[in-house]
Amino acid sequence: MAIDLRSDTVTRPTPAMRAAMAAAEVGDDVFGDDPTVNALQDRIASMLGKEAALFMPSGTQSNLCALMSHCARGDEYIVGQQAHTYRYEGGGAAVLGSIQPQPLNNQADGTLALADIEAAIKPDDAHFARTRLLALEDTIGGQVLPLAYLRDATALARRRGLATHLDGARLFNAAVAAGGDAVANARMISDTFDSVSVCFSKGLGAPVGSALAGSKELIARAHRHRKMLGGGLRQAGILAAAALHALDHHVDRLAEDHANAKRLAEGLQGLPGVTVMPPQTNILFVDLAPEKAQGIVERLSAAGVLCTGLYRLRLVTHLDVSAAEIDVAVRALRAAL
Ligand SMILES: *Cc1c(COP(=O)(O)O)cnc(C)c1O
Repeated sequence: MAIDLRSDTVTRPTPAMRAAMAAAEVGDDVFGDDPTVNALQDRIASMLGKEAALFMPSGTQSNLCALMSHCARGDEYIVGQQAHTYRYEGGGAAVLGSIQPQPLNNQADGTLALADIEAAIKPDDAHFARTRLLALEDTIGGQVLPLAYLRDATALARRRGLATHLDGARLFNAAVAAGGDAVANARMISDTFDSVSVCFSKGLGAPVGSALAGSKELIARAHRHRKMLGGGLRQAGILAAAALHALDHHVDRLAEDHANAKRLAEGLQGLPGVTVMPPQTNILFVDLAPEKAQGIVERLSAAGVLCTGLYRLRLVTHLDVSAAEIDVAVRALRAAL
């Protein structure tokens, strides 16, 4: 079988996760009757230090519900050019929420410069959309935003009357990368934001699902939006059980994915025309000189290694790739490059 480094979304539920799903107690979650969904929502809300949380079918819907709950029609949110919400979610905030994005360039470390944020906040004047929200992403491109930065950026937002949202699809990768108690780290990151979205279907290895956490009032608004967007699920406890299993068993092991990304980076050193970015978490970028890039993804695929990119390859480690498979991938990559 191919070694699939295209994304950490390609993981399949483990036998233990499938067993937890099969055994889940369920009810109709649109009636609020699913005990496993309710348990997951309580669990993730308390882990993230928020009053409430809502299980979501996808990270895209979770972010969209958050944006639509913070902003009304004609409002604006400040976001990075590279942010998933702005770039990779079909423009949903604008299309479905009538929310204008104000994109800012991401710095090399993934942050938005505080001066850029400050300058982008519009005065209260009929010419302008109402700037309502700052949305950040952590990790972004596999990079961890420093906690001190998150505190400064969200404090600036609050000082200027903006709400704050974190797209924390890979929040637990950031929390594990910080070292020490991952759940405590996740809580510290979450504490700086009004709302946080996390994905269970990335490195945590669940087949489906995300959660949005925030105040009771915000989550009540998000609940209405989720219904409107078609995200009201019925016996969703089958899916929530996978997410609960992931929170119990797959958080600390993200460190293995990070170690494997480093192992991969080290294995690819010293090839001419190949520049390896040092990975901070589970995403490795490799820049290729044009003569190396020609047909590389196809050649790697033929050699049994799947990845994405062109001049910049993106290789993502996850639950379904072992250190031994990383060594096989290194040999295939070195041969192809
Ligand atoms: C994957 C991802 C999302 C969206 O999650 P889906 O479940 O694929 O909709 C949002 N933000 C980031 C940073 C992601 O990586």
